[in-house]
Amino acid sequence: MRLSSSIKYCWIFITDRCQLDCDYCFFKTKTQTRTLSHGQIRQLFGLLKGSRKIEFVISGGEPLLRWDLVSFLIRDIGRRYPKSSVTLQSNMILMTPEKIRFLKQHRVLLEPGIDGLGKTTARHRKGTSLRMHRLVCASTRTAAKAGIPVFPTMTVHPQDTSAMTANFKFLASLNVDRIDVHPAFLAPWMPENATDFIEHYRRLAAFSHSAALKTKLCPCYSRPMAFGHDLVVMPDGHILPNWTFLAFPKKIRDRFFIMKLNDDHIACHASRYRSLLGRYRDLFRAKKVTYREFSNLNAALAMRLWKNRRATEGFRRYREICRAVKAIDTTLP
Ligand code: SF4
Repeated sequence: MRLSSSIKYCWIFITDRCQLDCDYCFFKTKTQTRTLSHGQIRQLFGLLKGSRKIEFVISGGEPLLRWDLVSFLIRDIGRRYPKSSVTLQSNMILMTPEKIRFLKQHRVLLEPGIDGLGKTTARHRKGTSLRMHRLVCASTRTAAKAGIPVFPTMTVHPQDTSAMTANFKFLASLNVDRIDVHPAFLAPWMPENATDFIEHYRRLAAFSHSAALKTKLCPCYSRPMAFGHDLVVMPDGHILPNWTFLAFPKKIRDRFFIMKLNDDHIACHASRYRSLLGRYRDLFRAKKVTYREFSNLNAALAMRLWKNRRATEGFRRYREICRAVKAIDTTLP
């Protein structure tokens, strides 16, 4: 079985251990025990043989809990896929000046998990104290000062839409390059919260693209992408074709695994993979597809199996927000 020729992102969730318990974390049912083995990583590189340019994302759980594996991956990806990029997603709690130097040397992009001011961040990133928030912000500032491209994703919970501008300005004060402002996935979005999010997003777009500001609102997920899918490698070696499946209960998620990395071979769910590729082809044939739309199609597939009424209503509004965000993003330079 061959991989689809266009892989947009290869997410490597190296461990499901994490010190925090964020209420919007899309990686549900973390066991706090699993970590990818070197054998599984070797199998992954075999699977990607011949690929030229891939956007690798190293994530977790918290990847810095396994810095040995992170540094090994970064070095190996640089050797095997010199045209590819590597982004490290981290809650930054264990970031140090030495690690920042290493990331800079290997041209790694950094996506720190901060939602803005301490109050908002501590409310949703459970386990974050205000002292920890200060340390995380200091490390983020140091990384940006060292010349590492730093792109936080500012996740907005329905109850925090009115604080969007204040949180954005705070993140911009850390000297980061771009900020992806994203509505919390599968959150209970009500009509008034959705309207409020869109209005604040519109204002942010105008504000952040004023000439004086270095930090810009990131429209990347609203750009049309080439046909393909993600490779989402989980800490136990299972591979999903899109990140959204991680947010569903295990019995739903189990329906979407396309492959499994073992230490010495790869098991492929060929018929399932073919059927998903067929759906993706139909989607891409019908229109130009952005990464958000591709992800939302996958979430809708899982949602149909899940049948949770409250989540379905929230998800419908989430999709409305995504459509409005796309319309605003297309007006950005
Ligand atoms: S820090 Fe990241 S992995 Fe950990 S709970 Fe929060 S969102 Fe999830």
